[in-house]
Amino acid sequence: RGPALFAPERANARGFDLADSTELDRIAEARPRPERLEVGPIIASAVAGGAREPILNPATGEEIGTVTLAAPEDVEAALAAAQPWDAAAEARAEVLTRAADLYEEGFGEAFALLALEAGKTLPDAVAELREAVDFLRYYAAGAARVEAAHPAGPRGVFTCISPWNFPLAIFTGQIAAALAAGNGVLAKPAETTPAIAAWAVERLRRAGVPDTALQLLPGDGATVGKALTSDPRVGGVAFTGSTATARRIQAAMAGGLPPGAPLIAETGGLNAMIVDSTALPEQAIRDIVASAFQSAGQRCSALRCLYVQEDIAPGFEAMLMGAMDELSLGDPRDIATDVGPVITAAARDEIDAHVAKAEAEGRLLHRLTPPSRGVFTAPALLRVAGIGALEREVFGPVLHVSRFRAGEIDRVIAEVNATGYGLTFGLHSRIDERVQRVADAVEAGNVYANRNQIGAIVGSQPFGGEGLSGTGPKAGGPHYLARFRAAPAPEFTP
Ligand code: GLU
Repeated sequence: RGPALFAPERANARGFDLADSTELDRIAEARPRPERLEVGPIIASAVAGGAREPILNPATGEEIGTVTLAAPEDVEAALAAAQPWDAAAEARAEVLTRAADLYEEGFGEAFALLALEAGKTLPDAVAELREAVDFLRYYAAGAARVEAAHPAGPRGVFTCISPWNFPLAIFTGQIAAALAAGNGVLAKPAETTPAIAAWAVERLRRAGVPDTALQLLPGDGATVGKALTSDPRVGGVAFTGSTATARRIQAAMAGGLPPGAPLIAETGGLNAMIVDSTALPEQAIRDIVASAFQSAGQRCSALRCLYVQEDIAPGFEAMLMGAMDELSLGDPRDIATDVGPVITAAARDEIDAHVAKAEAEGRLLHRLTPPSRGVFTAPALLRVAGIGALEREVFGPVLHVSRFRAGEIDRVIAEVNATGYGLTFGLHSRIDERVQRVADAVEAGNVYANRNQIGAIVGSQPFGGEGLSGTGPKAGGPHYLARFRAAPAPEFTP
């Protein structure tokens, strides 16, 4: 990993205090009335344009606009025009910092789009805009330092492929890092969230990122993604998404990219939390509900398997079900909503099938009722023998619970480590020595004690996993930018 390169002096964004009614009024005033969205490729030359597809509002299933996908000619034109960003590091930093300001000024539009296109609740949208802005300022602050420490130059042109669950924050974070390090970027947003991506690219361009240094190519993985990860003109790939897709990207890169071109991947998780009998129940319940059900469970950091010590399990599980009953499901734009929709009907069907199977096996402990309109699935609690019984990550508001006996913590840790994933892990215990021991033994990128296990903060909680969960380095941490710079030429001794 090497020593930390920089600890930039800058502050994270303030965000909004949603407990303050004047702030809520300010948001309501700034949020534009939804109009039909029309987006497409943003490249350095004229767009040819491929197929047109509807953009859907996951909360209602209604069509809210149209995306024009990148045609093969657009992908080729973007690849041919793409250049590293040749401005001085200080100038790049200034532009990225200006983009952060433009993002913040556009908060009303950002919140409206995040709700409409991605089904984000207001607290999630506020956190997401803040994270995007923090990424911009954090990487901007590291631009000059990374250049001085890695003088061999940028990698060239980076392909950035981002997920729909953080269509603004992760989309922006990848691009900001690649640009801060002096690369050009070809960005492929998730299929379901092209409008938020276009909103971000427009602001980055307006701030001063040259058109050859940032191009947006909406499309699917099999065509646009494949082309952008197998072309010799690409010097590296940043990807966040499923482990299976990361494997496909790796194979595509091996066939086309220059040797040594890095894949910086942040992939899936199968995340656990242990609650022992010394935990403070009220605190643990609140953190479990947030970790498992906030963002409708659509975070790779989300809690999937809860281990509760048997001595307290019956009362604790009853309390958890009670807390689930307090969750309100519905329109993400309504401030009272805790859990919004999931991203697509197909995603919902997959989650529902998983819950139905558990129900048929007599393992459904609790489930809420979803709203009848829109693409909703209700938070559910399922009994499971252990995390090893989960075949894969179910990307929704589904929590599995298992019990363990006093003295079995080592067995639980071994089970968790055996999944091969290693993204987040949570522990609630008031025995300090145990907290330290478990944190040391668990193989996970982000370990959280006595708090929730989602929502890592740029600059103070670098985020990323190990094993099947990602390649590292962690996003929002001091080692990330270096990976976007070229490795020094190997020394040659005759
Ligand atoms: N960084 C997010 C968090 O800490 C998760 C990112 C993801 O789901 O990909 O919750």
